[in-house]
Amino acid sequence: MFTALHIGVLALQGDFERHLHHVHLLHAATREVRRGADLDGLDALIIPGGESTTIHKLIDRFAMRDILTGFLKQHPVWGTCAGSILLAREVDDDRITPFGIIDVAVSRNAYGRQVHSFFASVNARLGKNQVILPASFIRAPIVSDPGPDVCVLAEYEGHPVLLEQRDCLISTFHTELHDDPMLTRYFLEKVLVATHGRSDSSAYRSAS
Ligand code: GLN
Repeated sequence: MFTALHIGVLALQGDFERHLHHVHLLHAATREVRRGADLDGLDALIIPGGESTTIHKLIDRFAMRDILTGFLKQHPVWGTCAGSILLAREVDDDRITPFGIIDVAVSRNAYGRQVHSFFASVNARLGKNQVILPASFIRAPIVSDPGPDVCVLAEYEGHPVLLEQRDCLISTFHTELHDDPMLTRYFLEKVLVATHGRSDSSAYRSAS
């Protein structure tokens, strides 16, 4: 049912291959986005985890900022971890000018260093379903101060970790490192609704 979709994954640095893999398993077409022209004809973009300062630098080096800004204002986007930092309204690091697509503040590396990375099961509300997502928090940011239009879909230890605002989804953790398609399905379902006005409520019912 996702075969009509063309999903780009920003492939400048970081964990883009796992996202490509999961989208591919759900039968949508995928494309690695490395230049502005690669966005042509895509329905949506995933900005993966990695190092947000590096991805930020490469976006500028390849002169992608303006075209990405235009694309993100008009298409669904899912940012994981470093991707969520780049999509925020505000980041506690002067080196990063975020895209401001979702109305949240973000504090980088807020759980500590690499050795403080951890795995958790996160209880999330995806549409009408309450699900448990496998979640790796790897030098994850902490999100605060969500604006009135932001919906918190999951919290962990009192912090919002999965949020959406219209067609923008952010997760501060990685599910794509695990063999669980639920969050990818949820995002593709959003893309389907945004682009084709079609929804299938069974989309994220099964983890198979
Ligand atoms: N700590 C990284 C950053 O601030 C994000 C880590 C990740 O994406 N897993 O960019």
